[in-house]
Amino acid sequence: MLGPPGAGKGTQATLIAENLKIPQISSGDLFRDHQDRDTELGRLARSYMKDGVLVPDKVTITMVMDWIEQNTGVGGFLLDGFPRTIAQAKALDQALADSGGIDLAIYVNVPETELVHRLSGRLVCSKCKTQYHTDFAPPSEPCICDKCITELNQRDDDKPEAIKKRFQVYQEETAPLIDYYQVLGRLREVNGVGSIEKIGERMLKALH
Ligand code: ADP
Ligand code: ADP
Ligand code: ZN
Repeated sequence: MLGPPGAGKGTQATLIAENLKIPQISSGDLFRDHQDRDTELGRLARSYMKDGVLVPDKVTITMVMDWIEQNTGVGGFLLDGFPRTIAQAKALDQALADSGGIDLAIYVNVPETELVHRLSGRLVCSKCKTQYHTDFAPPSEPCICDKCITELNQRDDDKPEAIKKRFQVYQEETAPLIDYYQVLGRLREVNGVGSIEKIGERMLKALH
């Protein structure tokens, strides 16, 4: 899943993984999990994430490759938010060379004004990590997770300064991947504006 911050990658990745019965991982969630457990990697990642810049390739690649190794042989998997640089994409190609690389990169296209609105209203369950939105996907009780009755939080990097920085980083480091996968014939672009259900249908269509 490829796309700018707030495009709906996490929301859709969860739905698609359930639908296709395959494991999915968000590199951002992996980092946040390390932070919650206060591991060395978590402490290292925190300083970058807080400012909205990318965690260095070397540590990111090692972390995601570990996850992939533990999740192969189950009929496929879905990556959300990785790769995010050309170096990461090349490392992934290399790791999956025997099986011909990834099948598809889904590029979720959403205009920037909509992204700002989505990020500034995003709420995340501190326990089960379900995503909500104050206006677009509100929980039944304000600030409480429907699934596990736990408090919802705003992410540090969803504050205005970090949002601006993340868009800049996206343009410079991640947007070039659109061309990268286009050239390989692996890119599918999906319009990411509309209801969550509608976009989910578009994604499944693109995948099939
Ligand atoms: P969003 O989906 O809103 O763009 P993520 O949860 O995917 O945010 O990522 C949050 C932060 O985690 C990023 O700003 C970056 O600091 C770090 N991160 C996540 N994935 C990667 C990656 N593939 N490479 C480097 N840093 C990453
Ligand atoms: P990403 O992982 O690409 O950063 P998320 O899936 O976390 O994006 O979505 C960002 C925010 O936008 C969340 O608060 C989510 O509830 C909300 N959102 C997701 N999809 C839609 C949609 N189709 N319309 C409106 N808001 C959405
Ligand atoms: Zn929850």
